[in-house]
Amino acid sequence: MTDRHDLEDWETIRAEGHRLVDEMIDHLAGMADGPVWRAMPAEVRERLRTSLPRAGAELSRVLDAARELVVPYHSGNTHPRFFGWVQGGGLGVGVLASILEAGLDANCGGRDHAGIAVEAEVVGWMRELFGFPPGASGVFVTGTSQANLLAVLIASRHAVGLQIRQAGLGEAGCGLRGYASSAVHGCVPRAFDAAGLGEEALRRVPTTEAGCLDVAALERAIAEDRAAGLTPFFLVATVGSVDTGAIDDLKALGALARRERLWLHADAAYAAMGMLSPSLAPRLRALSSVDSIAFDFHKWTQVQYEAGFLLVRDGTLHKQVFASPAAYLRREARGIAAGETWPTDLCLDLSRGFKALKVWLAFKSLGADRLGAAIERTCSLARRLAQRIAAEPRLELLAPVSLNIVCFRVRPEPGEDADALNGRLAVTLHERGLASPSMTLLGGRLALRAAVFNHRTREEDVDALVDAVLALADEARGPLDQADPRLGST
Ligand SMILES: *Cc1c(COP(=O)(O)O)cnc(C)c1O
Repeated sequence: MTDRHDLEDWETIRAEGHRLVDEMIDHLAGMADGPVWRAMPAEVRERLRTSLPRAGAELSRVLDAARELVVPYHSGNTHPRFFGWVQGGGLGVGVLASILEAGLDANCGGRDHAGIAVEAEVVGWMRELFGFPPGASGVFVTGTSQANLLAVLIASRHAVGLQIRQAGLGEAGCGLRGYASSAVHGCVPRAFDAAGLGEEALRRVPTTEAGCLDVAALERAIAEDRAAGLTPFFLVATVGSVDTGAIDDLKALGALARRERLWLHADAAYAAMGMLSPSLAPRLRALSSVDSIAFDFHKWTQVQYEAGFLLVRDGTLHKQVFASPAAYLRREARGIAAGETWPTDLCLDLSRGFKALKVWLAFKSLGADRLGAAIERTCSLARRLAQRIAAEPRLELLAPVSLNIVCFRVRPEPGEDADALNGRLAVTLHERGLASPSMTLLGGRLALRAAVFNHRTREEDVDALVDAVLALADEARGPLDQADPRLGST
């Protein structure tokens, strides 16, 4: 480089880029051969820590550092034996999407350019998929946590009146009450907190045995609150609960929301994309009549992080809640500043990356049907896992398997602390890189929670999980136990 103000060295970037693309493709394609996860050693963490790099270094050396200090210590969600939480596995085409996205460096807050047109295109697909009317709006956000917050903001402003945008919630907000099942994701009470309503304004209603919101209990809660002078305004249907994948009764909740004049919002973070599978779609069809749906493309459709989405039936209201005219954001009839509604009018962000591009590329190249088939397969793998657990006397299922999530544990022997045993097993599975279930509490009992999301997961991966759990349980209980500090009681 001759000009010290020039930040580009095209020949180096080209050469390193070709190498990196090959490496990242090998990385994803060869995932199954490595451990699911490995802890970052203290020495690596130490080497990562430097002061602000004032002077740069040769690109190849910095990339080498990334190869050594970063790449091996991924969180594992791309691995076929990753079963934790609710995470997608990423797509090979996503690697290419990230190159396109970075090359264009589009700011998708607004204005007239292809980034906005592609987002509008994906919004149109989602309207079509969920049977929403032409006036419905949609917007990309980071994730369902953010989409749920936007929905709470829209519904509360709708309930109290748009004047609160200037005047604040004040007295009017005090009596607002929302409802969700006790299986609701934690981001919904957080949204109530962040929206200034307070977490207590979200009433958690008990679930049925199957983990679905108990509609009769909900009716009683609403009647009680009305009698106490409160204002019910918002009902969350959990569609695919985070613990067990339970789907609330959308038809019954729809009828109740209409009767009680509540905004019906679906937190369908992962399960919404089940609409792509012909066998799951009938269970989700009633999503077509809710007021808003929050979901993620980065979960069951495997699109790279992050790609959350909010779909709102009343697009006019959606815009009224968020649009904030500013002189420097004037809309023109022509030129770059053209366009009536910009994505920034529908959310809290102004500068936004081009999230729609990776979704567009995934759907266009793989097709909705193949993505749906991959979703369907995760459900059949979960059924296989559940069958193996049911057939194994040393294991027990702790919840019905509704979709792709299997909660189970090693049965305790008399006098054994089941939670401690199962907790140690999970951590050991992680540390040895064998498989990575997460854990949750169901009915006060610690469950190993295996969620099959990754499209790379095969039958042998599911079998490996069961085999590893059984082997570790034997190891924990066997005479060698004391010899293995990893399984010792702590
Ligand atoms: C994952 C999930 C969320 C949170 O979504 P993020 O994309 O992580 O913000 C909310 N609700 C449910 C049911 C989820 O599974």
